[in-house]
Amino acid sequence: MDFSFTEEQLMIQDVARRIAQEKIAPSAEHHDQTGEFPLENIRTLGENGLMGIEVPAEYGGAGMDPVSYVLAMIEVAAADAAHSTIMSVNNSLFCNGILKYGTEEQKQKYVRAIAEGREIGAFALTEPQSGSDATAMRCKAVRQADGSYVVNGKKSWITSGPVAKYIVLFAMTDQDKGARGITAFLIDTDREGFGRGKTEPKLGIRASATCEIEFNDYVVRADEVLGAEGEGFKIAMTVLDAGRIGIASQAIGIARAAYEATVEYVKERKAFGQPIGAFQMTQAKIADMKCRLDAALLLTLRAAWQKGRFDQGGARFSNEAAIAKLTASEAAMWITHQALQIHGGMGYSKEMPIERYFRDAKITEIYEGTSEIQRLVIARNETGLR
Ligand SMILES: Cc1cc2nc3c(=O)[nH]c(=O)nc-3n(C[C@H](O)[C@H](O)[C@H](O)COP(=O)(O)OP(=O)(O)OC[C@H]3O[C@@H](n4cnc5c(N)ncnc54)[C@H](O)[C@@H]3O)c2cc1C
Repeated sequence: MDFSFTEEQLMIQDVARRIAQEKIAPSAEHHDQTGEFPLENIRTLGENGLMGIEVPAEYGGAGMDPVSYVLAMIEVAAADAAHSTIMSVNNSLFCNGILKYGTEEQKQKYVRAIAEGREIGAFALTEPQSGSDATAMRCKAVRQADGSYVVNGKKSWITSGPVAKYIVLFAMTDQDKGARGITAFLIDTDREGFGRGKTEPKLGIRASATCEIEFNDYVVRADEVLGAEGEGFKIAMTVLDAGRIGIASQAIGIARAAYEATVEYVKERKAFGQPIGAFQMTQAKIADMKCRLDAALLLTLRAAWQKGRFDQGGARFSNEAAIAKLTASEAAMWITHQALQIHGGMGYSKEMPIERYFRDAKITEIYEGTSEIQRLVIARNETGLR
């Protein structure tokens, strides 16, 4: 087994690290405090291939592999988690699904605009009454005689909803068929019948604007259906498998930033005449933080490697992605909690980024499938029981 990265993987990691450190990190506190959407930085990431890392060059992307995506996401998340949320939706939830299920025209139109960073994409599955249980959705699309659909309903918690130009929407086309009655559509938010609610105030990832969206007799043309009618649930679940690798990477980036800050702090901060890092209780925390961080990274790289095989026609990677997301998100929550504790009062202060890491880490246990749902996926895969 070879644990080294290729030259291309190291190159994109380098590009992401440079932008993260030069452009994103200096304004992270500002974006956290104001919740201002970082449009300019997102454009810069797009211009450097980071909004379509796995998108082939013919559709405006960097044409790299899933491992490259993990490495780049970690660098951006370590500088600011909110930026990495926007990046993960554009890369995983928007571009990935269209690349796999879209027509040539759809790839040229939608994927190119997002991968090049000219527009922002979104993914709309959740509704006010249906999150984990997506099949309980009420948003409806009714087929017309000419093959178009009329959409009515609401979606909630839509990342980048306030600014997105295009959205991958999931709506019920046949209630009686349950999961097989869901269809995916490509939405242009400039069209009549589309509306946005207020931006949600949030605990963390505050600059990744989130809102409710609404459809009132919105007309989708036949060529704006993604995949076939009734294929929507399958598309959503496949896309979320890939998305979970992105969220695991985000969790690792947040955790790494908290860990590195802590290693420096324990060497400088003194109590009872010695650096706090000399106390065995602190040392044990540092060792446990490092073990969880490395375990999360290795499991996430394994899932990314497996996704690379899937992209070439190999087996699905749902289990590996769920294991990576569950491990990395719980590691991020635990590591940021320890980091805050080790920083004492300074960890609780807005003068340092530690409390931001702690707030940002929490979302990784919730979106793209809560930790309970990841456990469900893993246990079902392991036992075969439903
Ligand atoms: C900041 C943010 C951004 C988001 N971005 C998007 C987005 O871009 N697009 C999108 O579509 N959605 C988005 N979401 C929605 C997100 O995916 C859901 O919040 C998440 O899937 C959980 O759904 P819920 O909030 O309805 O919780 P619920 O499904 O109501 O769950 C509540 C609790 O019950 C538990 N639970 C539910 N079912 C089970 C079960 N079978 N077994 C055990 N426990 C269970 C859950 O784990 C959770 O702890 C976002 C959410 C947030 C907070």
